[in-house]
Amino acid sequence: MIESINPGVASLPVAVRAPPAAPDLDGASTARALGTRRQLQASGAARALDLLGDAWILRLLRSLFRGERRFSGFIQETGISRAVLADRLERLCAAGLLSRDETPGRHALYRLTDCGLDFWSVLLAMWQWESRWGTGLVKPQMPHDRPRGEPVHTACGQSSDPRPVCACCGELVTAFETRGEIDAARPPIPVAPVTALQANPERRFRQSHSASREDLPTLMRVYGDRWNASVMAAALQGARTFTDFSEATEIGAGPLTRRLQELQALGMLRARAYAGSRSEYRLTGAAVATFPITLEIIRWGDRWLWGGQPPMEIRHLRCGKALRLRWQCAHCQQGLERQTLRFD
Ligand SMILES: [Zn+2]
Ligand SMILES: [Zn+2]
Repeated sequence: MIESINPGVASLPVAVRAPPAAPDLDGASTARALGTRRQLQASGAARALDLLGDAWILRLLRSLFRGERRFSGFIQETGISRAVLADRLERLCAAGLLSRDETPGRHALYRLTDCGLDFWSVLLAMWQWESRWGTGLVKPQMPHDRPRGEPVHTACGQSSDPRPVCACCGELVTAFETRGEIDAARPPIPVAPVTALQANPERRFRQSHSASREDLPTLMRVYGDRWNASVMAAALQGARTFTDFSEATEIGAGPLTRRLQELQALGMLRARAYAGSRSEYRLTGAAVATFPITLEIIRWGDRWLWGGQPPMEIRHLRCGKALRLRWQCAHCQQGLERQTLRFD
């Protein structure tokens, strides 16, 4: 039995167009929030965000994809401290993204496993967003470790503007034409173990950002913080009021207030007053454009961190089929692979 619980992305256009009347919003908030929590828990996304919920992890992955293998190399490239680096490398190894090769008398080398290599399209989705909406627009503000050039599709030799399309119908995928569906017949949602860091998000927040929070590009601040990412996911699924976000994400009032402020400062949410003193939060165009990143995180989390078929399936409403995202070269229309994409 398929139970559609989508207060989801497909409901966005309505929400973006006009603010709903206060009574409707209150009445809908419980169902909407429940749906958000269940959707997050019914896919590998929550587990992926638990792992990625740290800006250093994303920086290290980018460094690894550029070919860095050595402990000292990571320090040189990212400015990370030895203790934090050791902890993050251990976490990446434990999650199966990295393997550690040790040869007696030589420094250990870290290599991406198949699971780690499969992360390439998540980084591609992030790169594409940064180019259009983030620091890519202002070259002097680009972080030094971000690729400067356009990606080149080696199969056709042209610079490629990667487009996220539906593998089934070939249409460009947007946030407004999909629906998350939960299959109630699939096994119950296993509870992920909570680590000390996850149990103390504020500590993690400080630890992950104390060094150079302001220097981090927007996406690392959004997805490199588990709670920012959860607030974004809830907003993409229809949460609008403080109560909506609080119920959907289960973040305490203080930390949630700070996340809502930060996401506004990052240009992802816009607050507007309604019903007197209350505020509601709307996604900006830049936030809606992060949708392919969300899809990639769900895909990658489902494949590598779930262990079986997760209960949630995303349907592409244009063709009615289960959505499989494919990156396409805008020049020759062929599918892009990790091996056929080069950053100059
Ligand atoms: Zn389709
Ligand atoms: Zn091409």
